[in-house]
Amino acid sequence: MLPQRPSAEHPPAARPLLGNGLNVLLITVDTTRADYLGCYGRPGGRTPNIDRLAQEGALFERCIASAPLTGPSHASILTGNHPFVHGVRRNSAVPLASENISLAEVLKDSGYATAATVASFVLNRQFGFAQGFDYFHDVSQTSVDDPQSAERKGDEISRDAISLLRTLAPAPFFLWVHYYDPHHPYETRRSPPYTTAEAYEDEIAFMDEQIGLVLGELENLGLAQRTIVVLVGDHGEGLGEHGESQHAYLLYNSTQHVPLIVRCPEAVVPGTSLAEVVRTIDVPPTILALLGLPPVEQTQGVSLARCLRGEMAVPTLEAYSESFEAHAQFGVARLRSLMDQQWKYILAPKPELYAMADSLAETNSVIAEHPDVAARLRERLRVIVAEAPPPARPDSDAAATLSDADRARLESLGYAGTAVGPDEVNGPELERFEPEGANPMDFTAQFELTVQAGDLLQVRDYAAATPLLQQVLAILPDAPRPAGLVATALAAQGRPHEAIPIYERVLKLIPEDTYLRGSYGIALMQVGRTQEAADNLRIVLLENPRSARVLHNLAIALTQLGRLAEADQNLQLALEVEPRNPRVLHTLGILRARQNRLAEAEQYLVQALQIDPSFRQCQEDLERMRANMRGRQP
Ligand SMILES: [Zn+2]
Repeated sequence: MLPQRPSAEHPPAARPLLGNGLNVLLITVDTTRADYLGCYGRPGGRTPNIDRLAQEGALFERCIASAPLTGPSHASILTGNHPFVHGVRRNSAVPLASENISLAEVLKDSGYATAATVASFVLNRQFGFAQGFDYFHDVSQTSVDDPQSAERKGDEISRDAISLLRTLAPAPFFLWVHYYDPHHPYETRRSPPYTTAEAYEDEIAFMDEQIGLVLGELENLGLAQRTIVVLVGDHGEGLGEHGESQHAYLLYNSTQHVPLIVRCPEAVVPGTSLAEVVRTIDVPPTILALLGLPPVEQTQGVSLARCLRGEMAVPTLEAYSESFEAHAQFGVARLRSLMDQQWKYILAPKPELYAMADSLAETNSVIAEHPDVAARLRERLRVIVAEAPPPARPDSDAAATLSDADRARLESLGYAGTAVGPDEVNGPELERFEPEGANPMDFTAQFELTVQAGDLLQVRDYAAATPLLQQVLAILPDAPRPAGLVATALAAQGRPHEAIPIYERVLKLIPEDTYLRGSYGIALMQVGRTQEAADNLRIVLLENPRSARVLHNLAIALTQLGRLAEADQNLQLALEVEPRNPRVLHTLGILRARQNRLAEAEQYLVQALQIDPSFRQCQEDLERMRANMRGRQP
C-alpha cells in the first residue's frame, strides 16, 4: 500500500488513556537465530545495538516461537495464541481473522496511537495484520512477479520508523517495526552466492545497525525512559543443521529458538538474564501487564512482567511449536513439538526426544532411553491441543459480494456461501493430532531440492529447475508443491496445455491451495477456457478476497467475456490492495480504452510506466494508443 501518513484526516482514536501511559516499541526480527547475536553468546557477534539493548534490559535465554513461518509466528506474537487458536497456519493463505484480538486493538482501545511498518508481503494488510493499527505501512508491489518475495529493506524500514516516532511523540503510542533482511536471499551487502552463513550474518549485522538508528532516535526524542522496548524473533534459520538450509518444514531449535529482549526503565533491572523457557505468545500479556492493563481473556500466553521486576521466578512453561508446511507441500505428516526446561519432544511418525538441560543442540535423540518422558510429553501435547479454545473463524465477507449468477455457478461446483474450507482451520484440532503420513525428517533432501528449484524459478531458469523437481517427484510422486512448481514452470514457458492436467491432479489432493488454484485459473485463461478460469479465480477470492493477483486476473477474464463493468469493479478492488501495481494499472488503462475513455486510459498507462519503466507491453500499448489518438484529431 501507499504509506498512509499520520495526518489530520486520520487522527488517532480519541479515547481516554488507560494504563500507565508508557510507550511501546515492538521490534520483530525476521529469521533471526538467537545464537547469532552477541548477547546470546555468539563469538565475535556483530550486533552491538541489540547487545546494548539487552544490557539495559532483560534477556530471555530460551524463547521459543510457535511456528517456523513468518505469518503464523507473527500472528502468535500479536495475539498471544498458538496457530491452532488464531487460525493462521501458513503464509499468505487464510488471513488472521478479525475475530482475533490483537495487541494493537487492545492498545488502540486503551487510548494509544498505534502504528506499524512491516517489511514482508506476508505481513501485508490483506492478511489481517493491520487490525488495530491507525497507520499501517506495508509492502507495495512494483514489478515483482511473485508477490511472496516482495520486501522492504531495513534502511527503508528504519527511515519510516523514525519518521513515525517523530509524528507519534509525545502521545502514548504502540509502534511495531518489522525487519526482514536476514531472510533468504542474503543479498543486502554481498555479491552472490546469497546463501552462505557468512552472508546471513552480514544481514544480521546490517539489521542491527538499522535497529541502532531507531533506538538512537528514541533517545534523541527523549522517549527512551518512557518507552518499553521489546525485541523478538519470529523464527530462526536452519543454515544446514538437520538438513535444512532455511526454515518452514522442521521444528528444531535452529528455527524455533529466537531472541526475546525487554527493556523497560522502571520495571526491569538492567542486565537481567532469565534462563527459563518462555514463548513468543507471552509477549502480548507481558506488554499489557507492564502497561498496567488487564490481560485479554483466553490468551494462551502468560505475563512475565513480575519476573522482569524480580518479584517472582519465571513459572514452569511448556513451549508448543507446530509446522504443517511439509504436510501441505509434500503430503507428509504434520509436526508438533513441546519443549520444557529439561526436554524437547517432537511428535512425528518417528518421534524424537532431546535432553535440553545442558544444550539446545538436538544432536542425539534419546527417545529409546526415556520412553516414559516421551509418553508424558506426548500426552501433554494432546491435552494442550484438546483444551484450547475453539479456533477463530475465518472471515468470509467475500461470499457476500458475489452476484446471484456467480453464486449459483459456484454452488454447482460445490463451493458457494462458505469459504473453501482449508483443512487446517475447520473441525476439531484433536482430529488432526495423530501424525499421519510419512516422517518429514526422512525427506529433507527432497525439501531442499524443491527450495532450490523454487529459487531457480524466481530467476526463470526453467531448464535447471525442472530436473530437480522431477527428482523429488520420483521419490514423492503425490507431493503437491513440486508438482505445482512443474506446472508453473510449464505455464511460464508458454505450455499451459501441459500445465493444466498437473494443476488438476494437485488440486484434487489439496483443493484449498489458493495459490495453485489461482495459477490454474490463469493457465485456463491462456488456453481460452475463460469461463472456467473466472470460476476458479472466484473460488480463490472466497478464501482470500484481497488477493490483487487474483482480482487482476479475474478482471482480465471478465473483460474477455465482455463483462466490462464487473471487470472494472475487480480492478478497483485490486488497486485498493496494491495501488502501485503496474500490471493492474496497465489492465485498467486497456479497459478504459475499450470503454472509449482515452484520456483516462493514457493516464493509467503513463502511471504504470512511471512505476516500471521496463514494462514493454505497456510501452507498446501506450504508443499505439497515442498514434490512434493523433489519427483521430482533425
Ligand atoms: Zn519470518
